[in-house]
Amino acid sequence: MGFGAAPNRKPGFTIRTNPYKPIWIGDTNQERMFGTSGIRGVVGEDITPKLALKVGAAIGEPSEKVTVGRDTRLTGSGLENAAVSGITSRGADVELLGIAPTPTVARYADGNSLVVTASHNPMEYNGFKLWNPDGTAFDEEQRKETVSKIREGVATEPPERFGDVTKQEDAIDKHVEEVVGSISVEGSLKVVVDGGSGAGSRVTPKVLREIGCEVVTINCNPDGTFPGRLPEPTEENLGDLKEAVVAADADLGVAHDGDADRTAVVDSTGSYVQPDRLMAVFAESVDADEVVAPLNTSMVVDHVADVTHTKVGDVYVAEKLRETEAPFGGEPSNSWIFPRQTFCPDGVYAAAKAAEIASRNPFSERLQELPEYVIERGSLECDEERKAEVMDQVREDVCTEFDEYSTVDGVRADTEDGWFLVRPSGTEPLIRVTAQADSGKLADELYSYAEDVLRRHL
Ligand code: MG
Repeated sequence: MGFGAAPNRKPGFTIRTNPYKPIWIGDTNQERMFGTSGIRGVVGEDITPKLALKVGAAIGEPSEKVTVGRDTRLTGSGLENAAVSGITSRGADVELLGIAPTPTVARYADGNSLVVTASHNPMEYNGFKLWNPDGTAFDEEQRKETVSKIREGVATEPPERFGDVTKQEDAIDKHVEEVVGSISVEGSLKVVVDGGSGAGSRVTPKVLREIGCEVVTINCNPDGTFPGRLPEPTEENLGDLKEAVVAADADLGVAHDGDADRTAVVDSTGSYVQPDRLMAVFAESVDADEVVAPLNTSMVVDHVADVTHTKVGDVYVAEKLRETEAPFGGEPSNSWIFPRQTFCPDGVYAAAKAAEIASRNPFSERLQELPEYVIERGSLECDEERKAEVMDQVREDVCTEFDEYSTVDGVRADTEDGWFLVRPSGTEPLIRVTAQADSGKLADELYSYAEDVLRRHL
């Protein structure tokens, strides 16, 4: 058994460049790249220092001060320097936190903030996440405004003064202190932390030790080549963590992505906790009557609380939480939002919360009490240009046929014991179909029905 043993994946870092390919600025790919989670792409192809400079100028122009942090990627420092130049060139000051989890930056900032990160993407990627002072991501209007500033450039006259840059060393300590002060662990608890070599690698172990846990670490040396595993904390990437929890006879395992806004959980038996079920357990832990979640979330969450559905994306969950005042929301990508802490998904807080829960009752016991549902997922190909027309027709059919439906994102229909969702992929030429029910037979029926409707209009 090797803690943190690297899988058979040779770390190699290549910046892919193609001198003949037009750079991204001015390209039609702009909207595609500026998703709800910010701007992201392959470094050298889509993400360049020139782009970083423009992003910096775009966020610097309306700000007095911008707080800047980054994850552990090898390209982070260079892109950060370029972004900082952009910000200060528009007269805004910069508060530089260095390598820090996204939630650390979002919590620390009292103005806008920028994180150089590609979140859960592989090492070749990098990007920029932009945050408001309350920890919500830039909304649609702000994203559009930023894209047009990047495309057209900001004002050309020099600012009255260039901004100053100050380094802040206390942001992580402050984050640790805030989390430690709001979590209480009962008795002794052993936790394995898989930091994924990302920005949370040194932070979460510190928090857990301070709340009284015994901590075993794997992949907790910050390393932008991500030598131990891929950054996304999916079940298939967490084989070492599952093994480590069993080998260490631990009560719990937690794992982050590259910027530690996500947290996955492994229970004491070494089983990965499915995110939908984890969402139900988190919701119960804060006595939530109401939970905000995207409309592809499992019925297991409806079992513990009223669910307000949003479009798919943790950004939409945060926006809705700001409106509803629900005490918890999340996305089955392992993004968890506890709005009384911050509207930014905080993986460090979620890890500590998981420890608090496990110290009272083993996860495996609580999970056994939750009902099982069958979920089916698939997709059919559809060209980008036809997606809107096809979805209009599917929506019309489904809304005529069913009494209970939602058109928040694609179209979802609910029956007494199940639901289905037909939704266009945001990134691929596909329309996705999801169906869930309390029996395999019904899930099959709902899936086939939805797929038939979709086929009719393709
Ligand atoms: Mg992330």
